[in-house]
This record gives sequence, structure tokens and C-alpha cells, in this order.
Amino acid sequence: MANIGKLGVDVVINNIEDNPLCIHGPTLLFERFQSNGQSRQFYACSACRDRRDCAFFHWADQKITSSKKELWDQVVKESSPVRSHKERYKCLEDIKDLAAADRRYCTSCSTLLRKNERQDHNSCVLISPITNKHLCSPSTFLPPKESAKLEAQYLFASSSVDIIVGMLQNLKASRVVCVGAPRIHEAITNSPHLNMSSLMMDIDDRYCSFFSPERFIRYNMFNHHFFDGQKAKTMYQKFILGCENLVIVSDPPFGGRMELLAHNLNKIQEEWKKACGVHSQTQLPVLFIFPYFMEPQVISNLPNFTMLDYQVDYDNHPLYSSGPKGMKNGSAVRVFVNRPQSMFPLPESEGYHFCQPCDRWVSLNNKHCNECNGCMSKDGKTYKHCDLCKKCVKPSWIHCSKCSRCQPQDHKCHAQAGQVLTCHMCGRSGHKRKDCPKRKEEVDVEELVMSHEQELTPEDLQQLDEMLEADSGEEERESDDHMSTSDLKDVVHYWEKFRNLASRHPDVEEAELTLCDVEDTVVSFFKNQLMMRRRNAPQTKIGSFFTKRHRENDASPQPSTSRRRENVPAGESVSPEVPDIFMEGDSPSKKQ
Ligand code: SAH
Ligand code: ZN
Ligand code: ZN
Ligand code: ZN
Ligand code: ZN
Repeated sequence: MANIGKLGVDVVINNIEDNPLCIHGPTLLFERFQSNGQSRQFYACSACRDRRDCAFFHWADQKITSSKKELWDQVVKESSPVRSHKERYKCLEDIKDLAAADRRYCTSCSTLLRKNERQDHNSCVLISPITNKHLCSPSTFLPPKESAKLEAQYLFASSSVDIIVGMLQNLKASRVVCVGAPRIHEAITNSPHLNMSSLMMDIDDRYCSFFSPERFIRYNMFNHHFFDGQKAKTMYQKFILGCENLVIVSDPPFGGRMELLAHNLNKIQEEWKKACGVHSQTQLPVLFIFPYFMEPQVISNLPNFTMLDYQVDYDNHPLYSSGPKGMKNGSAVRVFVNRPQSMFPLPESEGYHFCQPCDRWVSLNNKHCNECNGCMSKDGKTYKHCDLCKKCVKPSWIHCSKCSRCQPQDHKCHAQAGQVLTCHMCGRSGHKRKDCPKRKEEVDVEELVMSHEQELTPEDLQQLDEMLEADSGEEERESDDHMSTSDLKDVVHYWEKFRNLASRHPDVEEAELTLCDVEDTVVSFFKNQLMMRRRNAPQTKIGSFFTKRHRENDASPQPSTSRRRENVPAGESVSPEVPDIFMEGDSPSKKQ
């Protein structure tokens, strides 16, 4: 893959109402940067980071032909649900009085049924019995959409639900908007003694069967789009109107673009202020849930927020739950708040304690540093203070005299310098995109990781990687586990064939873009394979290859940067060239 010259993509936050529509509402304007310093803008789906989930694409500088427009209009029209929310919710009324054994839920049609309605669902997957608990806490039985890049659902463990609800109580919330937080919505709805009411706003339309249009709104948090139009929007406005004790809880998919999430949180805030006529300095309290290593990006987009030390636990996330597969320092996910941290006591039973000088609750291993004048741990480990760096660092780090700062023990001195200081905006070296004269407001995930790479351990990077990959197929990866070397060669073979084909395609730009997508897939696939092999056989050549590539990014031929850089964490790029990827002893031979 010669240098195609793509250097990353930024999102341009414009007035999206004028953008073309896909089935997920208004698309977003993106800008792709190329090595020659030029860029080109295009429209793509706001919700899907994978073009396989939503194929919408249009170059901004090209005219939308009427036939193309007709086609999209048709697709959008066909995507609108056959049955309205009200109709779907009515099924709940119909079955409510039946015994649990006489109720069914059809996962294929996403609907509740009576036992005797089965005949229309012969080839469907049905769940039964449906208990009363299921009906009021559907997240406990609806299969989570873990593998979809679109919806990526990771559900809170009940201990974390309790803590978050406790935080809402401390905020004296009387109404709560749950944006991507079904378990919090359920907890509030099922606990009348809390004296709170909740509105759930989520993209997952299955909840239509369980919550009325007053309590659940199908919503896209990346473009502030209400799928049921003005009626739903009015419902939402009614809910936020006149409520001074409104709080937002949001647990978005972690691969999503922070700048969009922040933009839309601010939009809700503005709409709330307008609806209530509150003073412009009043801030709507928000509990925003995101991983600790995204802290710089969260804070740069939401400057009034700080990160609590509480580790959010999940039921179905292998990395963030406290189970055997979980991280040894606990979950990487935290709650970001825009209220003083002293308002949020954390459970002493789980080892948290109050730090007087910091005036906040911190985890067991977070020891107060008198030099830094704070509890400095971010990741759950006890940090140590370095007198030379004049700050606290991760315990495993050492002060490197060559780099004049603390670094992971296995770091390569000055390795990052060349890589970090190449600007994605103009392609010149000497500064990062962040400082580029051409700089846009937006900084994407990849940029973030690049600029904070020094602070991340390989463990963090792997976790970030897993997290982004988690959206795209935990299951897929499990089953990839035993992919043979000859199958791998096949993949390479087809990839090369495809590349050849693309190079002859008449529409160069379209072909390039598709190529990028396929390459994303191939690269991340190979990355997974390498990780897996490295995990299983850390001493083989594959491990050292991986580390080598990891560190010598500059020297090795780069795979073209992908259209969605956030899927390829910095420093983890792997070129799908044949000879490099095979284990010791394998000799690559191309199948014809
Ligand atoms: N931990 C939370 C769930 C978080 S998973 C809990 O237990 O309640 C992320 C949630 O965001 C899911 O409910 C998912 O359906 C929703 N979501 C994903 N993409 C979205 C989007 N574009 N707009 C709105 N909600 C979305
Ligand atoms: Zn879409
Ligand atoms: Zn310190
Ligand atoms: Zn140091
Ligand atoms: Zn060094």
C-alpha cells in the first residue's frame, strides 16, 4: 500500500440541520486531510463509525443528483418503523395481565407477544417466560448489542447503579434524563420512593415495547436527532420544562467522538435554560461516564468537569467488570461531574476514603502526595512522586536521564519525538495538529492518544484498543481465535487482489475511500491476530515484531492512515504485508 496520503479525519460541527439525511438523522460534515496539505469534506453518518452499518456517503463539493436524492429519501422512508411507538407499547398492555409463562418476547421482531400469537413467529427467536421484573427492567433480559459498532451496549453492575442513583440523590434530582443509560432509567422508574422521574433517550428502539412515549424517546446523541420527529421533541421539551432539579446521566459508546457528545450535551443545557428561563450562569448538573484515559479530551470539551475516582463496574464487559477477566486495578471507567467532588461520597465498603486536603473521595490505592498537593492516581494504582519531573507518575515508570522525564521501563528513548511532532493538519513537522496554524477546534481520538501517549502504559493502550475494538466485534474476535496461517495468507491474497481492482476503478476518490474501509478492516483484523498470538505465545517472534513495529512507526512503511483513525490507536498500526505477520517457521507463499 503505497502512501495514499490520508492523514486523518476531523468532524466539522456546522449547522447540521442543512446536511443530507441518513436513516440516523442529519449526517455530519467531515474533513479529510491529505499529506499535500489539502483537505476534502464529505458527509457521513453521525451514529455509525462503520460504513457497513450505514452506507451513506457524499462528497461535499459534489452536487447531489436528483436520482441519488430519491434513492436516499427512499432508504430513509423504508427505515421508519412499521408500527408506531404507541402501537408497540400497547402490546405491553395486552400481555400485562397474563402469567409469565404465557408471555413471549420475539427478539427477531422486537415485540412482546401472547403465547398464542406464536404462529406468525415460527422462524423467530422467542424468549419465555417473561416475568414482571423483565417487563420493568428489560435490560436484564434483552440481549445487549455488544458487537454492533452502532450501539455497543455495556450495562452497569447493580452496585454501580446504586452508586450512580445515590449521586443523583445527592444532587437532589427530581427529574433525570438518561442519555444512553437504560439501567439508571429502570432503577429510577422502579423505585417510587426516590421521588424522581426519568426520561430515557437512547438509539435502541427495542425499549419502545416497555416504556411509553412519555418515558422513552428514540434519540441519537451524536446529532441530537429525535427519530419520532416533532412529537417526540415536544415530549422532551415538556419533560425538561420548568424543572430546576434536572440532571443528565450519560454513558455513551466510548468510541464516539467526544466533541459531538459535548456539543449535544451543551445543546440540551441551552434548551433547558431556554425552557426554564434560568440564569445563563446556572449549570445543568451532568454525570458523564467515560474512561479515565480520555480525561484530557473530556475536559477539553467540557471544561467545567472533573473526574471522580469511582470505578464504574459493568455486568457484561470483560475489561471493566471486576470478574476474573477484568483489569487488575479495577474498571477503567469513571464518572465526570460538573459539581464539587465533595458532593459525591464513595462507598467505604469498597475501600474508598475521604481525603481532607483534596476535599474529595478517592480509591483505596490513591495516596495523597504532599509535593503535588493532591491524590494523583488516575488508573487505580498508587502513583509515586518523581522529584526530577516534579510530579506523580505510574509506579512502574522510571526516570530516564536521556529523555529527561519518567517513562515506561521498556520505552525507546526519544522514540515518540518524530512521530508526535508531525502535524496532521498541514503535514509539516515541528508541531502537532493541535498547534497547527490551520487548526480546527476538533481533536479526534487518535490525536488525543498521540498527544498523551507518553502517559499511557502498553496496558492502557491495549485497553483503549480493546475498547474501540469491542464495539466492532468481541464475538468476532473470539471466533477468530484459531485462524490458521494459511487462512491468514488468503486474507492477504484477497486484500491484494482488491487493491489491484481498486487501482483501476474509474472514480479514484470513491475507490480510495472504499479501499480505506477495507484496509481498516484488514488492519484491525491482523492487529487482533497479532494480539492473540502475542497473548498466547508472548516469547515468539510475533511478539517482538509487534513491539518493534509499535516503536519504530516512523521507519517502517506505513499503512495508509484510515478514514476513521479512532479505530486504529496510535502506535498500533500494523501493515498487512505478507512476510511480517507470520510466526517463526511460517514461510509465506502466496496462493494463486
Ligand atoms: N451502562 C449503561 C449503558 C451504556 S451502553 C447502562 O447500564 O444503563 C451505551 C448506551 O448508549 C446503550 O444503551 C446504547 O443503546 C446507547 N447508544 C449507542 N449509540 C447511541 C446513539 N448514537 N444515540 C443514543 N444512544 C446511543
Ligand atoms: Zn446513518
Ligand atoms: Zn506527587
Ligand atoms: Zn521523573
Ligand atoms: Zn528514555
